[in-house]
Amino acid sequence: MTRDDAFVTLPDGERIARLGQGTWEMGERAERRSFEIDALRAGIELGMTVIDTAEMYGEGATESLLGVALAGLREQVFLVSKVYPHNASRRGVAASCEASLKRLKTDRLDLYLLHWRGGIALEETVEAFEALRREGKIRHWGVSNFDVDDMDELVAAGGQACATNQILYNVARRGPEFGLLPWMKARAMPAMAYSPIDHMRLPKRSVLDEIARERELSPVQVALAWVLAQAEVCAIPKAGSVEHVRANRAALDIVLSERELAAIDSEFKPPRKKAPLDML
Ligand code: NAP
Repeated sequence: MTRDDAFVTLPDGERIARLGQGTWEMGERAERRSFEIDALRAGIELGMTVIDTAEMYGEGATESLLGVALAGLREQVFLVSKVYPHNASRRGVAASCEASLKRLKTDRLDLYLLHWRGGIALEETVEAFEALRREGKIRHWGVSNFDVDDMDELVAAGGQACATNQILYNVARRGPEFGLLPWMKARAMPAMAYSPIDHMRLPKRSVLDEIARERELSPVQVALAWVLAQAEVCAIPKAGSVEHVRANRAALDIVLSERELAAIDSEFKPPRKKAPLDML
């Protein structure tokens, strides 16, 4: 991967790392804590500087772990958190953001996402995000788990400044390629692929294993390399050890050949019609 390919561009022109790190299920087990902190810090040193979290994760415990892990490294990181849909009112967003900032030991989020669509009017959530942006508490805002019709409604609700949509997307879940990803590309909005290795639910035996065997990689690395090969998609795998972080970073440098990509397409077929967006 060339230097330029290691980034994706947000609609306002800011470039962020194509390969970041997820944090779901981190900070919940005391005996894993030091491994998780080491893993996150190693990833940042390796350039995996987009760090994704949420107020939901461990009901704040994950953000608190990050508050420790990011000590001295905050300026290198593009920090992403998410607000629960039931907190997405004007006052709720402000209060949730304040609590997240406190746990994360920082004065701003680089990106704040609505975790999934709930019952509060999108206009109100958009206004709340824009207010936080004016106050300097968030730099960008976006959504997660929004399908095409949700994105249309978001724009109609004044949400033209949406920076990204974080969605379930990986080699085994290619539904967004029909409809949603083209919608986003048309608006220069990159996608943020969550569960890029499908939360370890990829099939036990597949073409990924054959490619991995031939190239002395792991099937996880091949799956991750496939996501990273998609235009304007960044990926946020979660890894709880330095070993897994290093393996994931190595996937950024893997260039899959036309033959390998075609073999993957023949087993993990691209969608031929619209299906509802999957979420985890
Ligand atoms: P994932 O990143 O696809 O997979 C994580 C699993 O893969 C963990 O069990 C991890 O184990 C393992 N793993 C990571 N690197 C590996 C490697 N090189 N070799 C072998 N195993 C490896 O799944 P995810 O955590 O669901 O998704 C990633 C992130 O996306 C989350 O952490 C979260 O930040 C975000 N997310 C967002 C939403 C949303 O609704 N917006 C939903 C789900 C996830 P170890 O921990 O042992 O390394």
